[in-house]
Amino acid sequence: MEFQLNEEQRMWQEMVRDFCQNELKPRAAQTDQEGRLPLDIIKKMAPLGLLSLPVPEQDGGPGLDTISAAVAIEELGRACGSTALSVAAHNGLCVAPLVAFGTAAQKAAYLPQLTSGDGLGALALTEPGAGSDLAGGVQTTATLEGDGWVINGSKAWITNPSLAPLIITLCRTDRAAGTRGFSQIIVPTGAPGLTINPPEKKMGLKGSPTHMLTYDNVRAPSANLLGEPGRGLQQTLITLDGGRIGIGAMAVGLAQAALDEATRYAKDRRTFGQPLSQHQAIQWMIADMSTEIEAARLLVYQAAWLKDQGKNFTKAAAMAKLFASEAAERAAFKAIQIHGGYGYSSEFPVERIYRDQRLLTIGEGTSEILRMVISRQMLNN
Ligand SMILES: Cc1cc2nc3c(=O)[nH]c(=O)nc-3n(C[C@H](O)[C@H](O)[C@H](O)COP(=O)(O)OP(=O)(O)OC[C@H]3O[C@@H](n4cnc5c(N)ncnc54)[C@H](O)[C@@H]3O)c2cc1C
Repeated sequence: MEFQLNEEQRMWQEMVRDFCQNELKPRAAQTDQEGRLPLDIIKKMAPLGLLSLPVPEQDGGPGLDTISAAVAIEELGRACGSTALSVAAHNGLCVAPLVAFGTAAQKAAYLPQLTSGDGLGALALTEPGAGSDLAGGVQTTATLEGDGWVINGSKAWITNPSLAPLIITLCRTDRAAGTRGFSQIIVPTGAPGLTINPPEKKMGLKGSPTHMLTYDNVRAPSANLLGEPGRGLQQTLITLDGGRIGIGAMAVGLAQAALDEATRYAKDRRTFGQPLSQHQAIQWMIADMSTEIEAARLLVYQAAWLKDQGKNFTKAAAMAKLFASEAAERAAFKAIQIHGGYGYSSEFPVERIYRDQRLLTIGEGTSEILRMVISRQMLNN
């Protein structure tokens, strides 16, 4: 076994880290306060390959392995949670299924628009009445009429649609067919009848736009079916397995940022005649944070490695996201504790990190659903 990144992965990590620390991190507080992504910086990500992480070379992408993609999302998370979520969702939830299930014509038509830096892609699964239970709850329908789909319904909590050229939308296409009765349809955001409602007011990740969508007789050509008819739910689950590696990586990045800030502060701040870092209670918190971050990072890399080996990585991705997101919660809590009263102030980054990481035990599979996924694989039921 090799427990370190290879030469190519290390060079990639260094390049992405420099970009994120120099360009993105200095704007993170402003991004949060203004509730707007730094679109000029996102534009600069396109030539670096950060907006086409899952795209192979033959489709015009950087041809990265999944560990390198995870490394990139981790570095984004370490610098700016809002940007990391939007870029992770773009790559993991929109570009990835297009690469995995799209036809040559769909890839040729949509990948260039998605990866140019002029916008970010979106995937719409969740609805006002359906989150964890998509199979039981999705009500949005798509009906074939003539040479196109007619879509009706609403979606909730969707990342990036206001910036997206297209939204991959999970629809019910055959109610009688149960879990084989869903399809994914590529919906251009300019389609008449599609309304992108005002952005949600959120606790954290405030720069990442989240919207409710309404589809009122929205038409999409029949050629916009993504993948196989009736396999939309199965394609969604495959996509979420990959997306969970990205969210796990983002959690590692946010936890690392919390540790970076806590370490710096503990060396500066003095109480009882010595720096905080000399008190054993503080040292133990730093030790616990470091240990859990390292464990989380290894779980993320393992899931990414299994994916690249073509092995089943459902359980590994669920474990990585479950552990990393809960470790990020504990790390952010301790980072605020180490800052004392100052940690409660928006003047210090740990306050933002604490709010930003909170989503990560919820989006792309809650901790409860992930425990179900893991135990199902263990118990075979
Ligand atoms: C900022 C943000 C961005 C998002 N981006 C996207 C996006 O881009 N695309 C998209 O489609 N969705 C997105 N979502 C939605 C997200 O994926 C859902 O919120 C998530 O899947 C949970 O669904 P829910 O909110 O409906 O909660 P519910 O499914 O209603 O769950 C509520 C609670 O009950 C628990 N629960 C549910 N069922 C069980 C059970 N069987 N056993 C035990 N506990 C259970 C859950 O774990 C949770 O704690 C986003 C959400 C947020 C907040």
